[in-house]
This record gives sequence, C-alpha cells and structure tokens, in this order.
Amino acid sequence: MKKITGFLFVFTVMFMLNMNICAASDKSAEPVTGSALSVTEPVKLGIGQEYELIDDEYQDLCDVRCKSSDDSVVEVNDNGCIRGIAKGKANVTLSIDGNKAVYKVSVKNTGLPYPSYNIPKGETLRIRLNGNDRIVRWRTDNKKVATVKRGYIKALKKGDARIRAYTKTSVYSIDIKVTPAKKSVIYLTFDDGPSYSSTPKILNILKKNDVKATFFVINYDSAGEKLIKREAEEGHTIAIHGYSHDYGAIYTSEKAYMNNLYKLQDKLYKTLGYRMWLTRFPGGSSNLVSRKYNKGIMRRLVKTVDKNGYAYFDWNVSSGDAGGVHTSGQVYKNVVSGLRKNRDNVVLMHDFSGNAKTVNALNAIIKYGKSHGYEFRAITDSTAQVHHNVQN
Ligand code: ZN
Repeated sequence: MKKITGFLFVFTVMFMLNMNICAASDKSAEPVTGSALSVTEPVKLGIGQEYELIDDEYQDLCDVRCKSSDDSVVEVNDNGCIRGIAKGKANVTLSIDGNKAVYKVSVKNTGLPYPSYNIPKGETLRIRLNGNDRIVRWRTDNKKVATVKRGYIKALKKGDARIRAYTKTSVYSIDIKVTPAKKSVIYLTFDDGPSYSSTPKILNILKKNDVKATFFVINYDSAGEKLIKREAEEGHTIAIHGYSHDYGAIYTSEKAYMNNLYKLQDKLYKTLGYRMWLTRFPGGSSNLVSRKYNKGIMRRLVKTVDKNGYAYFDWNVSSGDAGGVHTSGQVYKNVVSGLRKNRDNVVLMHDFSGNAKTVNALNAIIKYGKSHGYEFRAITDSTAQVHHNVQN
C-alpha cells in the first residue's frame, strides 16, 4: 500500500502530534480533546487506487475509524486506508481516538477500468491501467480462487479474491468474484449502429426480456450518443466496430486500420468515460473484400490488434441480416438453427437503419433461447474470443 508522502505526511504527523498521539496515551497524559481538525490537503485517486491516510504503526495502537461521505465514490476501511471506486468527489473523515480530520478526496477515471468484477469460473480477464503508469508487480490474495500473471486474471474456483497491481508509486486493486461456470450461452451482437429506426426498438425488446447484449458501433452523431449512453445504462456492452465502415478506406494499410480503431475508441472514451478494448473487424477477420485493397492485411491485423491490447470477436451464428435475408422468419430460422448447446454462441445481427426484419425476429429468438436452456449475456472483458479462420 502507498506510504504517506510529502505534504500529506507532514499534515498527518502534525495531526498526530496535536492530539497527543494515542501511542503515548498512558494514564497520566493530558486527555484528548476530541475537537475536529480540518485537513484541506486534497487526495487524488484513480479507480481502484489504494491510499493510506495513516501509517501502519499507529493502526495497532490507536482507535482508528474512517468514514466516507459517499461509499460509491471512495471506499474506506478502519485501518485508515481509502480506495477510489468511481469518478467523483467525497469527504473522508479519519478519526483517531475521537479526534477527527477531514480529507477531500477526488477520484478520476485513471487507474483500473473498474474496482470490482464478476467472472465466471474458467474465464480469463485481461486487466490494464488507464493512463501512463506502468505496472511492475501483480499479486493475488487468494491463489485458489484467482491467479494473476502480467495482468491476466484466471478464475479458478468460486469465491472472492483481491488482485493488486503495484506501480512504482501506487497500488491499485480489483475485487474479483468468481461465479459458477457458464454452460450454454447466447451473446446477441448488433453491428453498424446506432440507428434511430432500429436501436431504440431493439433496446426496448431487450429490456422487456431482461436480456443483455453487445453493440459493435460505428461513428455516431449527438442523437446516436444518447442511444449509446442508453445502451450502457441498461447494462449492455458497447464495443468498437470502427469509426468508418468503408472497406476501401480502412483496409488500405495497417496504419489506416488502427487509426480508424483508435479514433472510435477515443470518441467512446469521451462518451462513456472508460476505454473499450473489445472490437470486431468490419466484415469479420475472415473477410475477403480486404484483399482488393491490401493483400494479406488481415493476417497482419489480427496480430496487430492483439499486440495493442484489443480482443476481437467474430461470430459462430449468423442471422444473415446484412446479406440475402429479407424476412424476419428467415432471420429467426438462421439464428435458432445455428445455436449449439454447451458453448458460447456469438450471434451476428445488425441494428443499422431500417433493419425491421431483425427487430421483428428478436422477441421470438429470445423466447426460443430461454425455453431451450440458454442464458443470454453481454460480451465482457473475460469472454473467450470467437475467431474465424483468416483468409486474406
Ligand atoms: Zn459491420
């Protein structure tokens, strides 16, 4: 855990001395007054970042209590350690033998993408820091439940574990809850949105059925931004398809492709406040159309996106709704006939403008899945990637 440094350390020491620190509180010492003492030196944290307001040695000797004005922003424990949970501000009151100090704590979107994560047994979660801090060490506090190596967290057994990432100056932690292993899962994925005609209707159907899905989005305007925020608020995953979907522009070179990816990632970061690392190649990694613009580019790109930290998803069930399929009956038939038990079924569909056939098939597809023992989930950072064979 981070040691008190610099200014804050001085403040804390003064604070401790001011109240005849409890370490020296024998019976003959002056009684402690219990008056509040305000410390205004602000504390800045990232998500998941741990910070000790008081040195370890006092923790055993003193009656230390810590209270946060907003636990959803800053978490506290009674050892005087605080942790950033979500972007925002909170006051933390540290009380040592009845003497109080107030710390103004602000949490930024740096650090971990989230302070806690539920991961099904058997899955692997890749975790990384936002910002420039380099991690030097990873540790788990429960090797039986979850292990960690170079940012890859493996879920081994049902239970809880805290994983810590140490940089040269800070400590970040993520609470891992390993849930039971999944069986037959359907991941509904919608590409090429958001659109005003299809996306709201799809969201309504998903909401009514309490189903979470994944949206691989392209560039959007301010009205589309509202739809993307709605997708996030309703528990769906927003992933990167690409800023532009124009094959002739994005598959000319690796640089063009990656810039197209970064551009949408940056825009989504502004919209959502976190960096997304899940992506899908326009046309899928098996597309042949890219050959027209750059021979062998897909073979190189699948390696490049991985090297740059992205996970890409193709599909193993296709609705055909971007190709020759014209009725909702055909969409339904293509999807349900493609489903297989005891595996992750990643279903390709589209929420582009005017795609009424998919909108109209969706409710029946969900009904079929639920009545045949499938579980619907959104793709997450720990979902195993489904890949096609690269053909260019
Ligand atoms: Zn697409």
